[in-house]
Amino acid sequence: MYGYYGYRYYDPTYFLVLIGAILCIAAQIRVSSTFNKFSGVRSRTGMTGAEAAQKILQMSGITDVRIEHISGSLTDHYDPVHKRLRLSDTVYGSDSVAAIGVAAHECGHAVQHDKGYAPLQIRSKLVPAANIGSKAGIPLILLGAFLGMNQMLIQIGIWVFALAVLFQVVTLPVEFNASGRALAMLGDYGMLANDEVKNCKKVLSAAALTYVAAAASSILQLLRLVLLFGGKRRRD
Ligand SMILES: [Zn+2]
Repeated sequence: MYGYYGYRYYDPTYFLVLIGAILCIAAQIRVSSTFNKFSGVRSRTGMTGAEAAQKILQMSGITDVRIEHISGSLTDHYDPVHKRLRLSDTVYGSDSVAAIGVAAHECGHAVQHDKGYAPLQIRSKLVPAANIGSKAGIPLILLGAFLGMNQMLIQIGIWVFALAVLFQVVTLPVEFNASGRALAMLGDYGMLANDEVKNCKKVLSAAALTYVAAAASSILQLLRLVLLFGGKRRRD
């Protein structure tokens, strides 16, 4: 079987990568369509994303976080190093339910930071290791395979790659918690009515799915690497 041309290069574990990619694309399409839908729904208070963020930070007693405008769509993020809350074109000046939801979510991260929320601290500490893991993991494994299946290099490569996977997994509670805080604050501070909070939840849940898909995809990639290289010698 190994001798047949075509079979030698057929790698069934590639399906794992394909499944991961499909999950990520499906989640991206869903978040874009949900965000676009509720970008067209104006909030009754007429508050913009930036104004909503300002109010939430103020109500949370956070005075040292600056709100900035950045270009792009869905590029919104909280930068814990510089204490900046950056809101994108479609959020900063928009008074839609979607914009307020995203702005409140980023405020959720600022509140996590302010309160010393443990998963966020762990996630921040994992950033350098995750960067090394995503850049060096696979090259180390390939180098090990190239050097006559050097098991030590391959094992190091798999463990380093696993750090990048761990980062994606730790990201999940951080993201879910930020959205939970956002929805609670929007309701508690009377910024959105109950039905508007429900629509916000749809936007934030769709956004959370992209993180779930990314984590699932990286776990599948790790599984593939273990199946291909973990302790087994290639027979060809
Ligand atoms: Zn987030």
